[in-house]
Amino acid sequence: MSDLPLHPETIAVHAGRTDFAALGVHAAPIDLSTTNPLPDILHGGDSYEAMATGGHPVPEGGNVYARLWNPTVARFEEALAELEHAEASVAFASGMAAMTAAILSHTQATGRRHVVAVRPLYGGTDHLLDSALLGTTVTFCDAHEVAAAVTADTGLIVLETPANPTLDLVDIADVVAQAGEVPVLVDNTFATPLLQNPLDLGASMSLHSATKYIGGHGDVIAGVIACSESTAVALRQVRAITGALLHPLGAYLLHRGLATLPVRLAAQEAGAVELARWLADQPAVSDVFFPGARPEDRELVERQMRGPGAMIAVRLRGGYAAAEALTGAVRLFTHAVSLGGVDSLIQHPAALTHRPVAPEARPGADIVRLSIGLENVEDLRADLDQALAKADAASAQVTR
Ligand SMILES: *Cc1c(COP(=O)(O)O)cnc(C)c1O
Repeated sequence: MSDLPLHPETIAVHAGRTDFAALGVHAAPIDLSTTNPLPDILHGGDSYEAMATGGHPVPEGGNVYARLWNPTVARFEEALAELEHAEASVAFASGMAAMTAAILSHTQATGRRHVVAVRPLYGGTDHLLDSALLGTTVTFCDAHEVAAAVTADTGLIVLETPANPTLDLVDIADVVAQAGEVPVLVDNTFATPLLQNPLDLGASMSLHSATKYIGGHGDVIAGVIACSESTAVALRQVRAITGALLHPLGAYLLHRGLATLPVRLAAQEAGAVELARWLADQPAVSDVFFPGARPEDRELVERQMRGPGAMIAVRLRGGYAAAEALTGAVRLFTHAVSLGGVDSLIQHPAALTHRPVAPEARPGADIVRLSIGLENVEDLRADLDQALAKADAASAQVTR
């Protein structure tokens, strides 16, 4: 894009737009074609073959069919890759479709069908691995147990940091060192490419549920994986075969969303820092989970991240009764799953996002997760203040 090294804010605005001048456009064109005219059988067939095996279209052969290639999606992928310091990225219909393709391409496609997964993970990821639906076996472990869990049959290591829902941190470089030759996938959804770049720390793949911060407005379900071009070939091959592709309208919205991601995230993070501090002083709250809140995590946050992000979890002294009262009493926060959007959300992981997780690994019934949006922080604090008072009253009633 430019010969000078650019800052992330600049990349977020300008990346994936290299063909605009030649096209004579200023906003990204949305290409909705499902099929494309073929120049002739020979070149069309060459392009088909190149894409079906995970490559790019051959220029003289065209894009052939939208399950194989779409230029609107490719522009978003180019921009996301640049933000993640990656050679490539591959977009999917959802975060779970992206996770599925990552697992299939590194297990069934390589014959190494064992996955090592560091808990905690997003409930859907935990469920996908635990269910063995994709024909894999799994060893769930703590971050320091990865080396011991790897076998000759291990095709992939999966971790998440900060992890959903309790913001547990994993030292990415340390897991990469334990992994040896085995590729490491980091779910980077909570950090975004602005706060953490797993590939710089030796990970093979950085996965995002783009549904969250990258879209940022609660109106697109999508997933994306940043990686090397050779890994992208393997992922695009699975995408072409299984069909879990991102619709171009979604890609357009994500590409547009990237431009404001740095300012959104900075403002959301500033609000979250203030609220995390305030929540720690509230009598209804026994623990606040926020990256760097624990002194023993600060060195890792400094080394691995450029900020704590805007997700908070709290443990309520009043347990489930308090969680029920709190989620029912908020007025500005919306009681809803998902995260990373412009408006603040609150939800109960054990009952919802982490419901499919095995009981021994499920978050406690006393834990509530908050996604801080772009509202004025005083307004958010006032809302939590009145709702926590109701949570307190509800838990007092239960214990009496
Ligand atoms: C939401 C989420 C996912 C799944 O993404 P979808 O877009 O809902 O399929 C994966 N990982 C994390 C950390 C998430 O929060």
